[in-house]
Amino acid sequence: MKTFAVYNLGCRVNAAETNLFAQSLIKKKYLPSSHNPDIIFINTCSVTKKANTESLGLIRRLQKKYPKAKIIISGCASLKNLKLSKKIQILNNLQKETYLKNLDSTYSHQIKDKFSHTDRYLLKIQSGCTAFCTYCTVPQKRPYLWSLPIENAISTVNKAIADGYKEVIITGVNLNQYVPGFSNLIDALLTKTKIPLISFGSIPINCINQNFINLVSRFPNRVSNFFHIPIQSGSDKILKLMGRNYTKKIILEKFSSLKNLKSNLSFGTDIIVGFPKETDIDFQETYNLCQKIGFSKIHVFKYSPRPNTKARELFLKSTKISKEIIKERSQKLQDLISQTTLPSHQKLEKKN
Ligand code: SF4
Repeated sequence: MKTFAVYNLGCRVNAAETNLFAQSLIKKKYLPSSHNPDIIFINTCSVTKKANTESLGLIRRLQKKYPKAKIIISGCASLKNLKLSKKIQILNNLQKETYLKNLDSTYSHQIKDKFSHTDRYLLKIQSGCTAFCTYCTVPQKRPYLWSLPIENAISTVNKAIADGYKEVIITGVNLNQYVPGFSNLIDALLTKTKIPLISFGSIPINCINQNFINLVSRFPNRVSNFFHIPIQSGSDKILKLMGRNYTKKIILEKFSSLKNLKSNLSFGTDIIVGFPKETDIDFQETYNLCQKIGFSKIHVFKYSPRPNTKARELFLKSTKISKEIIKERSQKLQDLISQTTLPSHQKLEKKN
């Protein structure tokens, strides 16, 4: 019997794709095994320089450990420093997604990854991004847009329910670019399936529209109480330099609308510290905003210039922010989380 192993780095979109890839091998009668696998699939990440380095490190370790295995590499990492061999096959994101799109979008408990063995089903509904936030390389890596049709999403969720899954985690590269609209999909899943719980990998702030808020209000027990909404900064100046199409005012309005719905909601976010031209005042605005919203989780990313991005040009032209200051800003946000003892809604009420 032939065997395979899969390794995933980065976002939940990658994780969902890795699951589907694993499922495609199971359909070809391969068995999952980490003991001398015949095929290794690695889905890499390059969201930061560190993620790219980790991706290459993993590939090298696996090459060394399993010299006989065929290694299929996909994902966003730049492979230019990698020594290629006959045993390596590169599947770029477009090739990978074209292959996966031709497959049934369901996977089963058999693949034994971090999600599939639980009762939480990872449902990828969208891929690609053309938003071009100035720091991000994703539009270079996944420039084509794809959305899972609502009917397919419903049938996939029904199959997942039949397979014992109790929750679907909705994921996509940029859910704001889901066609025909993120809230329409959530509406369909809530009204046309019996899935007990819908949760989300990461929700762009512009997906929090009135339709979505009405759904959270109508189905309080079937929509997760936790929302990860990346805001990246609380300074309008920095948001503009990042190419994010919202302001601090919009952020506050969206969070207030959510908090007015239920008392037990909690929130996570992503923040980039040390973005080019971020002053102490800009950072303080971010800090104050995070404090006001009362996030229970903050993923703090130290800005790293990524190839061929506008932010990198800005980084090269502007005065460098020292490593110490970036570390200090990062630490302040981490400390803020450890001080978060009150539920988010109470913190906002207190500050108001
Ligand atoms: S929305 Fe912005 S940060 Fe997100 S993938 Fe697209 S370009 Fe990158």
